Amino acid sequence: MDKTYTDPVCGMSVGADTPHQLEVEGEQYYFCSDKCLQQFEAKHGGSRESGQTTDPVCGMTVPMDSKHHTTYKTKELYFCSASCLKTFNKAPDSYV
Ligand SMILES: [Zn+2]
Ligand SMILES: [Zn+2]
Repeated sequence: MDKTYTDPVCGMSVGADTPHQLEVEGEQYYFCSDKCLQQFEAKHGGSRESGQTTDPVCGMTVPMDSKHHTTYKTKELYFCSASCLKTFNKAPDSYV
């Protein structure tokens, strides 16, 4: 049986296998999306390292000093690899 948790931001049920997790003062929280996680984190603070962002193509966490990055409209976007950046450049509108 899969254990599910409640996203504390939007109230959705999320599985324990969600990649959007955050530990705050020893408690683990689970979120449906990085958006909810960030909202929660902004309010409560967290142990997630700063200076990280999410690759919009594959969803991986990437350091903001990644050498694979591009400016799209006014946003600076970071990628885990040159191949994700290439994928993004092919259809930027589908990722932002
Ligand atoms: Zn949510
Ligand atoms: Zn990637």
